[in-house]
Amino acid sequence: MFASVLVANRAEIACRIFRTARAMGVRTIAVYSDADAKAKHVREADEAVHIGQAAASESYLRGDKIIAAAKAAGAEAIHPGYGFLSENPDFAQAVIDAGLIWIGPTPAAIRAMGLKDEAKRIAEEAGVPVVPGYRGEAQDAKTLTKAAKDVGFPVLIKAVAGGGGRGIREVNSAGDFAAALESARREAQAAFGDDRVIVEKLIARPRHIEVQVFGDKHGGLVHMFERDCSLQRRRQKVIEEAPAPGMTEAVRAAMCEAALKVARAVQYENAGTVEYVVDGSGPLREDGFWFLEMNTRLQVEHPVTEAVTGLDLVEWQFRVAAGERLPKTQEEITLSGHAIEARICAEDPSEGFRPSVGRITRYDAQSVAGRIDAGFDRGDAISPFYDSLVAKYIEHGSKESPRLRRSVCTMAAAQLGRLEIDGPTTNIGFLIRCLMNEAFHEGHVHTGLIADNLAELVDGSINRSVAAIVAALADAVAHSESNPWDAKDGWRMNCGTRAAWRFECGGDHVEVTLVRDRDAWRASVDGAAHRLTGVGGNRAGWVWAEVDGAYRDGLVIREGARTTVFVNGDRFFFETPGASREHADGAASDEVKAPLPGKVATIATRAGAAVRKGEPLVTLEAMKMEHQLKAPRDGVVADVAVEEGAQVKEGALLVRLVGEDEAA
Ligand code: ADP
Ligand code: ADP
Ligand code: MG
Repeated sequence: MFASVLVANRAEIACRIFRTARAMGVRTIAVYSDADAKAKHVREADEAVHIGQAAASESYLRGDKIIAAAKAAGAEAIHPGYGFLSENPDFAQAVIDAGLIWIGPTPAAIRAMGLKDEAKRIAEEAGVPVVPGYRGEAQDAKTLTKAAKDVGFPVLIKAVAGGGGRGIREVNSAGDFAAALESARREAQAAFGDDRVIVEKLIARPRHIEVQVFGDKHGGLVHMFERDCSLQRRRQKVIEEAPAPGMTEAVRAAMCEAALKVARAVQYENAGTVEYVVDGSGPLREDGFWFLEMNTRLQVEHPVTEAVTGLDLVEWQFRVAAGERLPKTQEEITLSGHAIEARICAEDPSEGFRPSVGRITRYDAQSVAGRIDAGFDRGDAISPFYDSLVAKYIEHGSKESPRLRRSVCTMAAAQLGRLEIDGPTTNIGFLIRCLMNEAFHEGHVHTGLIADNLAELVDGSINRSVAAIVAALADAVAHSESNPWDAKDGWRMNCGTRAAWRFECGGDHVEVTLVRDRDAWRASVDGAAHRLTGVGGNRAGWVWAEVDGAYRDGLVIREGARTTVFVNGDRFFFETPGASREHADGAASDEVKAPLPGKVATIATRAGAAVRKGEPLVTLEAMKMEHQLKAPRDGVVADVAVEEGAQVKEGALLVRLVGEDEAA
């Protein structure tokens, strides 16, 4: 085994790899950009090397600087993590040429699987079913349109070099094809520097199921069963699990055998994933799955496989890269229980999943059971330069029962509600609603589930009454004579007999009254009555009660006139009216500014155009996503201050509006 490893990545994945390295006695070396000088992965490493400016293209994507850092720090091996350079065959080759150990597949295997058309040819030759479609060299619009008609609508246009859900367009009829093609090409060129596409049949009610494979340098090759990653938003994974709901032994055998065939065709070594799109319109079938692509790296969702197999995949990566044989044979790898992973991101689901950057003012996972792979801690900042993944939560249930998956979902939802993160907005409330969604709970997963239920999944308002009660209780307790928050064993509600509050919450007025009725309390929120029993709290800021017979709790953070309450992962701000507030009034602004640094992808308006409130004006590309910036009010565009393709700073003016009368 090598004695030192450099991780060419950041955040959660770097911390994850360091954990195994430490356990194996391998010295850890981090690299960091200007934005990450004090980051958690830097703090946790034995040594850290600065590699450049904040922009990934100046640091985490600079293979030359990373290899120089490895040399300078005396690293024997490089682990690329995922994203960044992990699937770059030239980087893998450069690492090997520099005399270092590359912890990943061979450059040849990465290259063979790097393009979706070539990968599908290899799979087809290996006898693995592939989605019907066009993968030819000719790329003119006429050929592609004809190909789409031959395949039959609806189809998907996909960037040959695509990844992370980018460069994909769904087309439902021939009339829409040309525009979709152009837009897919533009995105593909910008994101991957390659505008070639393939055309594929769109599978109805699809599921995404993938198989983890592992090979060594001695011809050893095994699979580690499947993961279901069907819960997606815009073709990006949100929640993943293992095993797949409804999987049968026969279908599993067929999918795993096919994955091994693909891997064998490229003499695969180290960790890899074979992805399939699956017909989810009925029970899983042996003839109902098709090869999509192979990801030649460790994946974000590898922990669910670790949970159900009891293996450490990073340890396997190290051993295989060092030349050892696979630690276990296929027969020795077994599947136990059910595991679910949820990706916790700094984003605001209720605002179109807009990324939320800035300092993490609170981070506490102490009362959360289960595994958390985090890339940040209290005091760290979410940077606009990278993706928004903060941490992953992994729940594993091992007691076999027909209700196991349901109980794992419920358990994961409960634990996520205990994770305390403040500062940037997170998607935790959304994740909890996904986990508790009736169809998901029943295992009826498919890739459209989130889109079909979007309105209810992003809406945290069902928790608002409980949050308002919690805010009132916290205030009542804070004003009682003894300071019950200081009691070591928690407090019990024991103050006045009637009190009323008037809060402002998200622009609305909320009225709460609490009336004591012997041991119980009656609360009313905006006139609706609730019965409270068993009211209590602790000094960590948690307040709990049975509200109408159901146990509910909330975390309270009081700062002056503002009370922040978290209930089930949703955050609410309650302010006492009249108190001074730091933020501006709600008057709709005349200016559309960049909420974060990024690149102007498209401009959907021009000077002089009349626009309606909510109409998309500019698409900004930032943090690996596209964000639509909409008109804050009705008006006329006075000025478009940027051009397509421009790089803009946070706060940069993009579009200025004037009132319809001013424009006249
Ligand atoms: P996976 O297929 O492993 O689940 P995704 O496709 O969801 O990964 O992720 C999209 C891309 O973003 C991948 O290339 C992934 O490696 C990358 N990515 C996700 N999180 C991070 C991170 N914290 N740092 C760097 N890259 C990341
Ligand atoms: P990427 O490299 O961006 O991950 P994939 O080819 O893996 O691209 O596709 C991303 C996602 O899009 C899949 O996980 C799946 O949900 C969906 N998808 C891909 N191909 C099809 C298809 N032919 N029919 C239906 N859905 C598909
Ligand atoms: Mg994929």
